[in-house]
Amino acid sequence: MRLDRFVVKSTELTQQQAIELIHQAKIYVNNVAVVDEAIQVHENNDIQLDGQKLVTRPFRYILINKPAYTLCSNADGVYPSLFSLLDVDRLSELHIAGRLDADTTGLVLITDDGRWTFSITSPSKKCNKVYRVTLVKPIAVDAAERFLQGIALQGEQGLTLPAQLKVLAPQEVLLTLTEGKFHQVKRMFAAIGNKVVSLHRQSIGTVNLDVELGDWRYLTTDEIQSFL
Ligand code: URA
Repeated sequence: MRLDRFVVKSTELTQQQAIELIHQAKIYVNNVAVVDEAIQVHENNDIQLDGQKLVTRPFRYILINKPAYTLCSNADGVYPSLFSLLDVDRLSELHIAGRLDADTTGLVLITDDGRWTFSITSPSKKCNKVYRVTLVKPIAVDAAERFLQGIALQGEQGLTLPAQLKVLAPQEVLLTLTEGKFHQVKRMFAAIGNKVVSLHRQSIGTVNLDVELGDWRYLTTDEIQSFL
């Protein structure tokens, strides 16, 4: 990670304060004063401030059950941000590993570990996300086959990756995706002439939603490792 990021993650300093200290040649990397905040450093480097070795705080991994009409971004003056439900320090360091629309409910993962997020959100990692979908009209008989073959979404080139559909009731289905294009579930059902009435994400990989609406918890070590 960048040196200024490392300093922020290992002290109570802001990024601006960290950059100032670096410019003042106060940060030593392997016994050499470094004045470029953008150099890449690694946990194994010996990074010191005032003769004290800096050690980064461990990453955080959080699961939250998102209520409808909360935003996976900053509050917009109409709806509150999902982050406002978290009573943890240094909120600005956290990001969402796979956003949901304002009206979608369910499982959202939040972290400050970008590499971990990539292992969840990159289609190349084939991480399953399961959505429970209520539809405005009964599901078409050929829907499962069409989703398996891939759907051409309006305004996109190519097809969606193979998706599994399980019919629970004529207007209630489970859809499993390994990618997360903008409004993907809603657009997939629109493409086959149906409409999503409500959307709820119930699992990501092997992690299942097990807290009440609006509640959150830290992930277990096994859950964290399951994505790596
Ligand atoms: N697909 C959607 O259309 N909306 C979501 O919130 C998530 C997936």
